[in-house]
Amino acid sequence: MPKVHPTEELLNDYAAGTLSEGVSLAIATHIAMCPQCRGHVSELEAIGGSMLFSAVETPVGSQVLENVLAQLEDIQGVSDAKPSLPRDLKNQDIILPNPLRDYLGAKTLRELDHLNWTNLPGYSEYVASDRSDKTKVRLLRVAAGMTLPQHTHEGLELTLILKGSFSDHNGTCGVGDLSVADPATDHAPSVDRTGECICLAVTDAPLRLTGRFGRMLNPFLDL
Ligand SMILES: [Zn+2]
Repeated sequence: MPKVHPTEELLNDYAAGTLSEGVSLAIATHIAMCPQCRGHVSELEAIGGSMLFSAVETPVGSQVLENVLAQLEDIQGVSDAKPSLPRDLKNQDIILPNPLRDYLGAKTLRELDHLNWTNLPGYSEYVASDRSDKTKVRLLRVAAGMTLPQHTHEGLELTLILKGSFSDHNGTCGVGDLSVADPATDHAPSVDRTGECICLAVTDAPLRLTGRFGRMLNPFLDL
């Protein structure tokens, strides 16, 4: 069960359908792996649907409230459902969560190898979004023990772990955890020494490197 979740505001915006495609993808992928958020979003969607219903059906009777309560009871059952990702992540044939599978056209962790990665020492990156998109969707594959350059953001950065673990301002994050960083966050995530980490990273504005060497690299950064 993931322990680092999207903010309430992000879940609300997701349920309302107001997020960009890339940010929605990160939230949908987390929800596929997190029964807790899945149940919560279903509740939000039911309440939103009922509000729509009550706006059409006037006057609002007690039946509306009963309907909402009945739907919430149904959702309770949904939130008890098992996470869609098996626990044994050493198996490279592990199936990717549904939203990501559709977006990347890859079914398993192993199939990610076939994507067009850019490789640097200890670090590989695959840009999944179009270059013209303001929101960037990337896969990062970082070697055990590596620390990413310290950076901050002009907008949101959502990082969802698909394999392995890293430590950042949220502490240690494992598979299924979604770490959200905003313009107030200046961090340098480091991958744990136990193994490589593969994550989905979504940014809705450019990163700004803040370390001594990072500042020199900023003009060349195209994220
Ligand atoms: Zn969650």
